[in-house]
Amino acid sequence: AEEVGGGDKEVVREYFNNSGFQRWKKIYGDTDEVNRVQRDIRLGHAKTVENTLSMLKDEGSLQGITVCDAGCGTGSLSIPLAKEGAVVFASDISAAMVAEAEKQAKEQLVTSEDGSGPVMPKFVVKDLESLDGKYDTVVCLDVLIHYPQSKADGMIAHLASLANKRLILSFAPKTFYYDLLKRVGELFPGPSKATRAYLHSEADVERALQKVGWTIRKRGLTTTQFYFARLIEAVPM
Ligand code: SAM
Repeated sequence: AEEVGGGDKEVVREYFNNSGFQRWKKIYGDTDEVNRVQRDIRLGHAKTVENTLSMLKDEGSLQGITVCDAGCGTGSLSIPLAKEGAVVFASDISAAMVAEAEKQAKEQLVTSEDGSGPVMPKFVVKDLESLDGKYDTVVCLDVLIHYPQSKADGMIAHLASLANKRLILSFAPKTFYYDLLKRVGELFPGPSKATRAYLHSEADVERALQKVGWTIRKRGLTTTQFYFARLIEAVPM
C-alpha cells in the first residue's frame, strides 16, 4: 500500500484537520479524557520533547537562537522553546493544529507589562516541503511516521537545507518489536485506527543525511509501552 501520486500528504492533511486533530489534541493535552494507550503515548511524547529541549540546551543558551519547528502540532515544543528565549518559526500542514498551537501559546506565554518576556512564535499553515529561509536549528518531531522512506529522504534533505547548524529529527525506529506491534494493529483494526504508520530504519535516515553532507552527532531513544521514538541530532559534515 505505497502512496499513489503523492496521495499520502493529502490523506495526512485531511486526517490532522479532522479526527486526527481531535485525537492528538487530547493526547498532547493534559485532560483526563484519555485511555490507557493514549496516556502512555502522551508520556512518551513528553519525554521526546524533554530530550529535544536538553539536546538543544546542551550547546548553550537558546536566547535569540532561530528555530524552525516543522510540523509543530499543538505547539508542545514551540511553546517551551519560546520560554527559553528562542525565536521560533512554527508551521504545520494542518490549519486546525496551527490554530490550536496559537491559542495555547497565547495562554501560556505571558508578556509582562513593560513588554519584556518571550517572543511569540510565528505560526504558519504550511507543509514542510514548502518551507524556505534559514534557521540556526530545524526540528521535526514525530512527523516522518506519516511518510514512507521514499518520501522521507526528500523531506530530510529539504529540512537540512533550511538549517545552518543543526537538525533534530524523531522517528519511529524499525525494530522487530515495534514492527510486530504495528502488525498486530493491522490485524485488528479498531474504529480508532489512524492513518498508517511508517517506520524508518536508522541506517536509512543516516544515509539520507549523508547524501546531503550531514552527519549524526547525538542519538536518543524514548520508549514506553506504546510509544517508540529515535531522536537524532545531525550537523553538517
Ligand atoms: N511535532 C509535533 C509534536 O511532536 O508535538 C506534532 C507531532 S504529530 C504526531 C504530527 C504532525 O505533523 C501533525 O500536526 C501533522 O499535521 C503534521 N504534518 C504531517 N505531515 C506534514 C507535512 N508534510 N508538513 C508539515 N506538517 C506535517
